[in-house]
Amino acid sequence: MPASRVLDDLLPRPGGPLPRVAVIGAGVSGLVLARMLTGAGFPVRVLDKGRGPGGRLSTRLHADGGTFDHGAQYFTARDPLFQAQVNAWREVGVAAEWRGRIGTLERGAVTPSSKESVRYVGVPGMNTLATVLAEGLGVRSGVRVERVARDGKAWRLTSDSGEDLGLADVVVAAVPAPQAVALLEGAPTLAARAREARLTPCWAVMARFAAPVALALDGAFVKDSPLSWVAREASKPGRASGERWVLHGSPEYSAAHLEETPEQVAPKLVEAFARAVGADVRAVEAVAHRWRFAMPSPPLDTPALYDADTGLGACGDWCAGPRVEGAFLSGVALARQVVAGVAGQ
Ligand SMILES: Cc1cc2nc3c(=O)[nH]c(=O)nc-3n(C[C@H](O)[C@H](O)[C@H](O)COP(=O)(O)OP(=O)(O)OC[C@H]3O[C@@H](n4cnc5c(N)ncnc54)[C@H](O)[C@@H]3O)c2cc1C
Repeated sequence: MPASRVLDDLLPRPGGPLPRVAVIGAGVSGLVLARMLTGAGFPVRVLDKGRGPGGRLSTRLHADGGTFDHGAQYFTARDPLFQAQVNAWREVGVAAEWRGRIGTLERGAVTPSSKESVRYVGVPGMNTLATVLAEGLGVRSGVRVERVARDGKAWRLTSDSGEDLGLADVVVAAVPAPQAVALLEGAPTLAARAREARLTPCWAVMARFAAPVALALDGAFVKDSPLSWVAREASKPGRASGERWVLHGSPEYSAAHLEETPEQVAPKLVEAFARAVGADVRAVEAVAHRWRFAMPSPPLDTPALYDADTGLGACGDWCAGPRVEGAFLSGVALARQVVAGVAGQ
């Protein structure tokens, strides 16, 4: 039984011939949308420029068998539908509660978190959630959609290499707002909304250490530092042992150093980690990854964007609310709008 079955029968199946849907972007929001519309009987295609589905729900495998969640770190669930999906994932073992010690860190001073938040992670990596959301969808990876142009009553999609990606009646940009603008040219009002949304960048460093780092926390919000967050990977359930840490540059630091190379950034953030911990920690290896569009700041405060007249839409964390849960709910909202649009014809 698919791990994401909660979404499959959520929508009524509209009668009559259904529009062909193209979803650009296989992050959480695009996958949720695609699952729900597929479940409702729509012919759906999902295209993504990445190596596999997931977007910012990303896990990198190191040659030594250890993993790094270098995008989303964990997620929380407040909405009942999202909680139901999380419960279904937990039942089949692809998500679990992360009971790591969380707190704040400021120049060697540790303050454990007083909030009793329940934090979840994908198992064995955050990206597993994308894998199970993508089950049965036949996502096409490694293709960047560059153009969405009118062709009769339909939309023709073209890749950045000039490949004709065929026709669709409904096209959704499930991509970060700045990347959605060009894809929404056919619906200028939506493009203008996407232009309003801002996402802050984040430099993420994946660092390995020979010895355990002397810090009585597994995940820390870092104050007074170029870093904003650090996490001990092996403290998450289902991960290989080993002293691996993900270090996130703060939005301010990441923006100020955005155009530097990964080789320049990695040692500086490891040094900042040593200062934050207040000890002489040296990485055996540190690799930096730049997220140009990491976190919406602030989101638009609309669940999703859809224009039933043109069949163009957009969803993502920059619409409904930041984070994994916001992206999930944005995909759900847009699926409902697409079905309502068909019913209203
Ligand atoms: C460093 C970092 C830390 C984070 N920490 C947390 C956290 O702890 N908790 C939490 O809940 N959330 C966290 N988040 C946010 C969370 O990852 C996102 O909110 C969520 O994953 C967004 O999903 P999405 O579907 O909106 O977009 P994305 O995941 O960005 O998916 C968009 C997809 O579109 C594809 N794409 C873009 N343009 C094109 C194109 N032209 N053609 C084809 N494909 C295209 C991309 O390859 C990508 O796969 C973090 C994010 C980052 C980067």
